[in-house]
Amino acid sequence: SEAGEEKDLVIIGGGVAGYVAAIKAGQEGFKVACIEKRGTLGGTCLNVGCIPSKSLLNNSHLYHQILHDSKPRGIEVGDVKLNLGQLMKSKDTAVSSLTKGIEFLFKKNGVEYHKGAGTFVDEHTVKIALNDGGETTLKGKNILIATGSEATPFPGLEIDEKRVVSSTGALSLEKVPESLVVIGGGIIGLEMASVWSRLGAKVTVVEFMGQIGGPGMDTEIAKAAQKILKKQGIDFKLNTKVISGDTSGDNIKLEIDAAKGGKPESIEGEIVLVAIGRRPYTEGLGLENIGLEVDERGRVVIDSEYRTKHPHIRCVGDVTFGPMLAHKAEDEGLAVVEYLKKGYGHVNYGCIPGVMYTHPEVAWVGQTEQDLKAAGTAYKVGTFPFSANSRAKTNVDSEGLVKVIADAETDRLLGVHIVGPGAGEMIAEGTLALEYGASSEDIARTTHAHPTLSEALKEAAMATYNRAIHF
Ligand code: FAD
Ligand code: NAD
Repeated sequence: SEAGEEKDLVIIGGGVAGYVAAIKAGQEGFKVACIEKRGTLGGTCLNVGCIPSKSLLNNSHLYHQILHDSKPRGIEVGDVKLNLGQLMKSKDTAVSSLTKGIEFLFKKNGVEYHKGAGTFVDEHTVKIALNDGGETTLKGKNILIATGSEATPFPGLEIDEKRVVSSTGALSLEKVPESLVVIGGGIIGLEMASVWSRLGAKVTVVEFMGQIGGPGMDTEIAKAAQKILKKQGIDFKLNTKVISGDTSGDNIKLEIDAAKGGKPESIEGEIVLVAIGRRPYTEGLGLENIGLEVDERGRVVIDSEYRTKHPHIRCVGDVTFGPMLAHKAEDEGLAVVEYLKKGYGHVNYGCIPGVMYTHPEVAWVGQTEQDLKAAGTAYKVGTFPFSANSRAKTNVDSEGLVKVIADAETDRLLGVHIVGPGAGEMIAEGTLALEYGASSEDIARTTHAHPTLSEALKEAAMATYNRAIHF
């Protein structure tokens, strides 16, 4: 498409939701433009989220394994040293090659890319304050809001990204701190706790709720994961609320209060990570200029077809309803383009996998036991421990379990929950089975290659209606 003319689709935000919609729209022959103010494409996920965190998780795991888990495997190494600068460089290389890859895909698919901040002028016009100075305007028949989210701040404890950090600062610390206190035992908190604990920091996680993992994790699995992480050296304070923070000393001091009637105490850390959730980001977007409202949690309000109250303005990703996950944002971006092209699109919100990339990983899809209890659904459970799985044993990496939940009457699969090695890859099978409406017996009667970790899923499925063979 050419600059200046009215676009079929103008996308504000070049994160996972926005860039995927842009590429798809280009492929479908739309005149499409994408506005991104960060200077690079890929949004939170590629720049300061999914991708850099997985780089640090993978390399810190390797380092930790070489240090503590090589000798019994018959591998003797000399002096093992951490080069934090190089570890960060490896992360930065992964990030920049992926963000540049999207720029290439934009060109390939005819997407016009504008580097700058977009603001609604009216219902069909977006003004762009260009990063390089100056201003331009785009008109769109359709407009997609995909502006994402930002870290929720902790009142009274200002994030300077040096001593009090959000995930962004925690992905770029210049040295390994003596001690790190993490406020919030959700996914971000636990992934970052793992990285810095493996690299040598003393890490304490303070969590308001009675279980780790944030919303959505099955309680039995969360408990199992916590036990394993605790053994790795991470300390947990559950049912504990951080009340206030004091940054005046060498260490940062937090006042904490056991939520369930314990006595107030304090805890100190060289670095504090605030990881209490993320909130939708609409700053500077000019929603007020077009009379669009956000709900009490800041989310742009949409209907089931991603339409705001102006039907040609749609909205997807972290800035609206649903779990804040990259693959959810991506599939919504695709669905919107399908709506525009064909009049229908689809995302199955009952079937979105979640993965926590600690070691071992935690992964799940579908309903938890606590969900089913609350809904009064009759269900049965089959579990299988990795300690009885031959491949996990061979790998000397056999902590964790697979848990399959099926309908008590029909055996239809309701949920799969895994804590164990490779859980994030294994959950794809459970997700496909759930999407296709499989029974647990369907999984159990499907031949799984031996010896693989995925046999643990087969056996857990077997255990819902019969008995596992190896346990
Ligand atoms: P974003 O990725 O936030 O993109 C929105 C973009 O819009 C931003 O780049 C922003 O600069 C731009 N923008 C905003 N306003 C304007 C404007 N007015 N004009 C122009 N541009 C604008 N999810 C997973 O599924 N797996 C993971 O492993 C994972 N790890 C994560 C780790 C961390 C540390 C964090 C913070 C998040 C992680 N997430 C993960 C969540 C994931 O990053 C988000 O769900 C995903 O990025 C949402 O995509 P989005 O496109 O909706 O928003
Ligand atoms: P979260 O909502 O998952 O967890 C925040 C945790 O902080 C909750 O358990 C909450 O109870 C706790 N908390 C809140 N206030 C507190 C207080 N005052 N004191 C102590 N604890 C408190 O949020 P997050 O971990 O910040 O992650 C944000 C989003 O990013 C999530 O939606 C998550 O799904 C996404 N994300 C996903 C991945 C992944 O898929 N691997 C990785 C990172 C982030």
